[in-house]
Amino acid sequence: MKNQQLNCLWTPDQAFILEQQAFINSEIKKLGPKKLLELADSAARARKLSYSPYSDYPVGAALLTTSAKIYLGTNIERASYSETNHAEETAVTAAILDKAIEKEGRRFIRAMAVAHTGTSASCGRCRQIMAEHADNCLVIMADIKGQINSITSLRLLLPMAFTPTDLGTD
Ligand SMILES: [Zn+2]
Repeated sequence: MKNQQLNCLWTPDQAFILEQQAFINSEIKKLGPKKLLELADSAARARKLSYSPYSDYPVGAALLTTSAKIYLGTNIERASYSETNHAEETAVTAAILDKAIEKEGRRFIRAMAVAHTGTSASCGRCRQIMAEHADNCLVIMADIKGQINSITSLRLLLPMAFTPTDLGTD
């Protein structure tokens, strides 16, 4: 590698992180604690609908759209394992089936709350699914009682995302 190529290294810089912190704080302020807790509680309730006999790892999700509608999702497993649907994914599916794209356009996700045991964030696949329907959104991680563990942004979870814009379709 030639020396000048070292200038091409990319990591999230301070400006990017500050921009995301500002986005998160602004969205928290606009939505308010009541709505955020409602989302976390909805995700915890959706978790109880999980069909996850193989992993025994139920997950719930609650998606808030840009028009303030809430859609629930949960993980759904199959004996063949690879056909498993994740909670965030089924919430997105529920929104699309209710014509979210028709009503709000492709970017219809404003926030996604996810509830499960532990403190991990959405998996890589779900981050990509969210990036299909939001340039950025809040991602709220909650416990199984609906208490919020952390609030972050999709762009912090998936920097340099590959999106429809990269295919020139948007
Ligand atoms: Zn996932």
